[in-house]
Amino acid sequence: MTGKTPQPSMVVQPGDVRYPSLSRGFNQRWIGEPEYVVVVRSSTEAKEALQKAVREEPKNPKRTRITVRSGGHCYENFVCGDDVRVILDVSQMCNIEYDPKMDAYCVEAGASNWHTYSHLFPVSGRALPGGSCYSVGLGGHITGGGYGLLSRQFGLTVDYLYAVEVAVVKKDKTVELVVARRDDRENPDLQKLWWAHTGGGGGNFGLITKFWFKDPPTPPSRVRLAGIAWNWKDLTKNDFTALLNSFGAYFRDNQDKNTASGKLFGILALNHHSNGQIGLTAQVDIDDPGGIAAMDDFIAKMNHGMSAEATEMRTFMGERPSLGTLKIPRDMPWLTATQVLDSSGEDQCGKYKSAYMRKPFSTKQIDAMWAHLSKDGPYRDYNNPQSLIQIDSYGGAVNAPPRDTAARQRDSIMKMQYQVYWTATDQHEPKYLDWIRKTYQATFADSGGVPKVGTKQDDLATDGCYINYPDVDLNDTTTWNRSGQPASTLYYKDGYTRLQEVKRRWDPLDIFRNSQSVKEQKAQ
Ligand SMILES: Cc1cc2nc3c(=O)[nH]c(=O)nc-3n(C[C@H](O)[C@H](O)[C@H](O)COP(=O)(O)OP(=O)(O)OC[C@H]3O[C@@H](n4cnc5c(N)ncnc54)[C@H](O)[C@@H]3O)c2cc1C
Repeated sequence: MTGKTPQPSMVVQPGDVRYPSLSRGFNQRWIGEPEYVVVVRSSTEAKEALQKAVREEPKNPKRTRITVRSGGHCYENFVCGDDVRVILDVSQMCNIEYDPKMDAYCVEAGASNWHTYSHLFPVSGRALPGGSCYSVGLGGHITGGGYGLLSRQFGLTVDYLYAVEVAVVKKDKTVELVVARRDDRENPDLQKLWWAHTGGGGGNFGLITKFWFKDPPTPPSRVRLAGIAWNWKDLTKNDFTALLNSFGAYFRDNQDKNTASGKLFGILALNHHSNGQIGLTAQVDIDDPGGIAAMDDFIAKMNHGMSAEATEMRTFMGERPSLGTLKIPRDMPWLTATQVLDSSGEDQCGKYKSAYMRKPFSTKQIDAMWAHLSKDGPYRDYNNPQSLIQIDSYGGAVNAPPRDTAARQRDSIMKMQYQVYWTATDQHEPKYLDWIRKTYQATFADSGGVPKVGTKQDDLATDGCYINYPDVDLNDTTTWNRSGQPASTLYYKDGYTRLQEVKRRWDPLDIFRNSQSVKEQKAQ
């Protein structure tokens, strides 16, 4: 730079070198054609950009939505849909500092997970128990109730959320910056707005500019990472059943966050047989004197009853590359381990589905998964090595929240994520969508093809879906969701009416909307 180059405009329009990059999501299925994208660098710029956008008339009546992007990792087209007129991009807002007035750490909404880990921990010794994908942005991640490998030990990120700064649009279209605190007893409406940001999902109520976190936890100084795999060619149905039973039983029986086994986090990647392997990754706190024994016990239990021998990972596991070196467990500082696991994968096209599990899998569910992953079922000749059912351990501290939040699923022991990836030039997208839809539908065949939310009476094993893994198929009540429960119930359970109340109060013009956003009136 010579110093003579003028500062480029922060408004990016078609023809600008930045436009192709800034008008698409991380998921390459979502490429918008907005009139413009605004890169905002402060709360004031965010407020002004939103004010300008809401006062303009759309040039194209088919493109009317104003959306907000932080990390751009939304699974569905909520940010970069072809009906989007303006994208407000907060990704440059990633400052992190201790705010003495709030007695809390202030993190701007554009910060990514990795930015937050690498900038908060070195100055404070604290960390948010957030996701392992480094490039996920806090704007969506926190608001949806983000979780990660520290969550069984410390709970959800939103369990530490103290306040949030949001630019909201009033009925007369004026934009106001408000700060919503969890203990604002003088203004219950603001307190409710805070609550809505503890799991209500991004893109619903306003443009978030800042989060404040109070007393975020101190992560372990050292952890042990382990990773093993089993080759599909050696795997029998008995092995598969034994592994899923062991995984479910382990996390049913180890839910005390004060024990080493209760802190242990496991991720099982059940890849389709065309991948060649299924894999298991685990992390445990080894500041805890029982940590190493807990990991040994966990690995032994997962191998119990398996005729297939565990080996090193040689294939990618969903969005993660293979972690072959972890066959022999490695001990390392927590931040290093977080970096080892922080892969986001290649930016590809993807489709995802989710499920909360309150109990180990039933035989019927295991049979359905086997049928859709192995050579024994309808997908024998299907070929996509990046088709998988990922099962994360859950619960522990997540199930003992310090206060009421909008993240309602608080008694699950596992969280499932169905995933499939492909590149934009691959002609077989319909096949991949068919695989993921039918696999999910078959797993939850007894409850209308989705993991229905249970009641105290029926004591179902399932408890709905995760709003940070959105799936628009849940809106399809004739084919993919025949549970009788709308998507809003599957995501928010009994919290939905409160979210609707917040929507009415804080986004009366429904400026912030997408195909699964909170609707002011009736459930979708
Ligand atoms: C590779 C990968 C790994 C992941 N791993 C995990 C994991 O380990 N744990 C986990 O919990 N989740 C995980 N997720 C899911 C992730 O939490 C969600 O996709 C999250 O919503 C992404 O947030 P974002 O800001 O990056 O996305 P964006 O696409 O920017 O936004 C997502 C939604 O939030 C809204 N939003 C974003 N910023 C703002 C803002 N400033 N104000 C208002 N609304 C806003 C958007 O409008 C959109 O509706 C993963 C996702 C990916 C792609």
